[in-house]
Amino acid sequence: MTDKERLFNSGILVESRPGAEEPPLSLWETKKNGLVVIECPQRIPCNPCASSCPTGAIIPFDDINDTPRIDYEKCIGCAKCVAICPGLACFVIDLTAGGEGKAVIKLPHEMLPRPEKGEEVSCLNRQGEAVAAGTVVAVTEPLKDRTVVVHVEVPRALMRDIRAVKVVKK
Ligand code: SF4
Ligand code: SF4
Repeated sequence: MTDKERLFNSGILVESRPGAEEPPLSLWETKKNGLVVIECPQRIPCNPCASSCPTGAIIPFDDINDTPRIDYEKCIGCAKCVAICPGLACFVIDLTAGGEGKAVIKLPHEMLPRPEKGEEVSCLNRQGEAVAAGTVVAVTEPLKDRTVVVHVEVPRALMRDIRAVKVVKK
C-alpha cells in the first residue's frame, strides 16, 4: 500500500475515489439546503447511510461491503445520513447559505456539551486541530435518539478541512 493510500484509508482525503467524492460544483453552487459529501472509501460491511436516505440519493448497495455512490440530483440535504452513519463519515455542505465567503456544514456531533444556536465554536480539521471559528446556525436531530447534527457557518475556503466542532469554554 502506498503512503497516499494509507492516508486516504485513514480518512485523510488526498484524492477522489469511489466512496469519497465531491458533488459537481455547478450543481453544488445552486442546490439550496446543500449536498452530501461522504468520506467512506473503505469496503466495510455497513449500509445505514443508503437504507436511511429518503430519496435514493445514496444508491442502494448491491453488496453490504460497497462504498457509497451518490446521485447528487436526488440529494435534498436532509442530513439523515449524517445522523445515522456510525463512522461519522457523512456531511452536508451548503454553498447557498451563510454570508459572503462562507458555507454551512452540517456535521455529526456526539460530544458534550452540545453546541447551541448562535454560539461561536472552534472548528476542527480531521486531525482535531482548531483551524477557524464558526457560528452555529442550527442544531437538529434528523433521526430521533441519534447523533445530533450541528449546522455551522464556516469560511468557505476551509469547507474541505473542517469536519468537527468543539464548544469553546468561556
Ligand atoms: S442528505 Fe438526505 S437526501 Fe442527501 S444523501 Fe443524505 S440522507 Fe440522502
Ligand atoms: S453508514 Fe457511514 S460508514 Fe457505513 S457505509 Fe455509509 S458512509 Fe460508510
